[in-house]
Amino acid sequence: MKKIVVVGGGYAGLKSVVLLQKKLKEKVEIVLVDHNSYHYETTRLPEIIAGEKSYTKISYPFADVLNDKMTKFIQDEVTLIDYENKKVKLANHDDFSYDYLILGLGFVLGTFGIEGAEEFGMPMHSVDTALAIRDHIYAQMKHYRDTKDPKALNIVMCGGGFQAIEISTAIAENRPRFAKMAGGIDPNEIKVYAFDGSPRLLPMFDENQTKYALELIKNIGVEIINPAKIQKLTADAIYYKMNDDDENAEARKIEANTKIWMMGFSGSPVIAKSGFDQRRGRIMVDDHLTVPGHEEIYSLGDVSSVMVPGKKWPWPNTAQLALSMADYAAEDLTARIKGKNRPAKYTYKDLGVVVAVGDNHAAAYALGHNYRGRLASIMKKMIVDKSLMETGGIKETMAVGRFDLYH
Ligand SMILES: Cc1cc2nc3c(=O)[nH]c(=O)nc-3n(C[C@H](O)[C@H](O)[C@H](O)COP(=O)(O)OP(=O)(O)OC[C@H]3O[C@@H](n4cnc5c(N)ncnc54)[C@H](O)[C@@H]3O)c2cc1C
Repeated sequence: MKKIVVVGGGYAGLKSVVLLQKKLKEKVEIVLVDHNSYHYETTRLPEIIAGEKSYTKISYPFADVLNDKMTKFIQDEVTLIDYENKKVKLANHDDFSYDYLILGLGFVLGTFGIEGAEEFGMPMHSVDTALAIRDHIYAQMKHYRDTKDPKALNIVMCGGGFQAIEISTAIAENRPRFAKMAGGIDPNEIKVYAFDGSPRLLPMFDENQTKYALELIKNIGVEIINPAKIQKLTADAIYYKMNDDDENAEARKIEANTKIWMMGFSGSPVIAKSGFDQRRGRIMVDDHLTVPGHEEIYSLGDVSSVMVPGKKWPWPNTAQLALSMADYAAEDLTARIKGKNRPAKYTYKDLGVVVAVGDNHAAAYALGHNYRGRLASIMKKMIVDKSLMETGGIKETMAVGRFDLYH
């Protein structure tokens, strides 16, 4: 019996497992490895950071969707892929072998060597890091209540990508709750800043839609500082220069005890450490989403790169792309195991992007049209439910789905 090992139970990994369970019906042995016992929806981490929800409301146990007749779950840290010997190395279990391997280990963040980023920036790439940021903000509000230290009220987001925007606007929207913790202050005393290096935020939108989104972001209470270059972080400040500042000018400074780090997106460090041919933790996969020279390994989601046809750049790594890759990999692998014709090469149909600005506003570009306001926000929530339905089924959709469409 062939053994399929899936490392990482995020969008790409878990959807692959669920589809393979359906398509191969106990003809194979599947092993899923993840360091958590649950699948979480990465796109919904802003809901946790802003303190709106417990992490159990954006996650569900793997056990709920695994068919224990054919799939075994191992909770552990993947440390290395020994692809020459077809083995996976784990922190706390013996090495084990595979016939086919699916890599779905997701993303981490890099610091670009910026001074103090490692020490004083709080990276956001998982449930644990999201909870740490939430708890830090709570602690700072209480610190303000007790000391009146103004630095405790300033929250800085290092990064202006759409993921960083979603987090900073979720925080800004929840300032009234934070203000109560700080002793009942005016919520406007809590300042949220987002730094970005490029002159043009949200480049996936046309100019009009970007203008609209920036207005929403400003109204919700996030001050965007761009184009700016972060110089250094300290325990209680961020130092930066605007791109057009004189190079000899002194760095500008904002005093802030909370600095969230959302820059330098790269694939899991396990990819580079294992010796794969990669760039920033992402493997440039072939037409069947497998690793060139290692057809038994699929690399999906944020640990992969797929070129946009006719362009010199890859598709941005998104949950949408990860889920589409999982669909294809499950179909391709099923055909190989059943000895049938493999599907034609992988192609990706980008359906667009929805950027949430707080819980009830969004800006979207989908299938050639711009969408705004409540409609765009409803689209975002329905996308969450669709993905939950496809991977988790009705039970998980009912348990953690978004049904708050009109409030
Ligand atoms: C705030 C935010 C908002 C976003 N919004 C959107 C959006 O609106 N639309 C969109 O399409 N995309 C969005 N994205 C991007 C999207 O979340 C990612 O592209 C997507 O999660 C990638 O899926 P994946 O399966 O590759 O990895 P993930 O879903 O991140 O899963 C990785 C899995 O691997 C596990 N893991 C990692 N390392 C190890 C290890 N060493 N050992 C064991 N297990 C490990 C993790 O526990 C996790 O279960 C957003 C991202 C963020 C951060």
